[in-house]
Amino acid sequence: MDSATLSARLLAWYARRRRDLPWRRDVNPYRVWISEVMLQQTRVEAVRPFYERWLARFPDVAALAVAEEEEVLRYWAGLGYYRRARMLHAAARRVVAAGGELPRSRAGWRELPGVGEYTSAAIASIAFGEAVPVVDGNVKRLAARFLALELAADDRALHRKAEEWAGQLVVAAPAPGDLNQALMELGATVCTPRAADCEHCPLVGACASTGGDPLARPLPTRRPRWREVRLEHRLARRDGRVLLVQCRESGWTPGLWEPPRLAVGEDRSGLIPLGTVRHVISRHRIEATAFLDPGWDGSGGVDPERVPLSGLGRKLLGLLDRA
Ligand code: SF4
Repeated sequence: MDSATLSARLLAWYARRRRDLPWRRDVNPYRVWISEVMLQQTRVEAVRPFYERWLARFPDVAALAVAEEEEVLRYWAGLGYYRRARMLHAAARRVVAAGGELPRSRAGWRELPGVGEYTSAAIASIAFGEAVPVVDGNVKRLAARFLALELAADDRALHRKAEEWAGQLVVAAPAPGDLNQALMELGATVCTPRAADCEHCPLVGACASTGGDPLARPLPTRRPRWREVRLEHRLARRDGRVLLVQCRESGWTPGLWEPPRLAVGEDRSGLIPLGTVRHVISRHRIEATAFLDPGWDGSGGVDPERVPLSGLGRKLLGLLDRA
């Protein structure tokens, strides 16, 4: 089956089956940009409320550029990978300093901080109709199954093959942005990691895995090992303010706030154990034990509503609320 026929099938399927997502309404480059950055490493359902809140507060690039970084991080808090928010903010400032107009091509987007291969292709094709392929995990899985490739999901060769395959489909499509979204949507809803609903797939018949064992591809990757981390934190509250410190630049959540850690060997007398929380970040499994410091004099106290908290910080303060 030729690329034009496959593209037409995919577009017809996408027109019928696409999910109604907030970033698919009122498409403009800024909205596509924000959604694509939020969706990296985060599930669609988790992104939805953050996206809507963000758009209400920062409706365009100018509003984002003039905001303080702390506020930007506060609106991001909960999505993780805070570097993405900082890069978005830096890129917005750069765009506004250069006149306020967002780039119109993939190459132009690629020059902005935090905008890589994937994001630039997604924005250029969805917002400007540029015929460039977008390759995410979904598209790689589809390519591995459609072409029956014996490659692992993290193999760079699979990325190249997927790019080539999607590239042929995208140039044959009248709407490149929709074609890219159709591939990603198909991978997210029909040809998923744990199921392949070939009966309802527009590629059935042309796909080399039809009737075979689609779930065997792509080949499994070697999983990186988790690291277990144990931490202890000092929690204190006085007159609505709490004891918080800003996380180091070199840490997991640079610039965010959380209760200070207790150092190994630090005196714990007078402190009351409050409980333990678990938190997962960047391949680390954290078990953090909280100690209440009832003798805190309030010095250096912070209003927790006014600073961006880390995910771990929020969980720890939850213990304080329940105490
Ligand atoms: S036909 Fe089956 S294996 Fe092939 S892409 Fe569609 S769902 Fe996946």
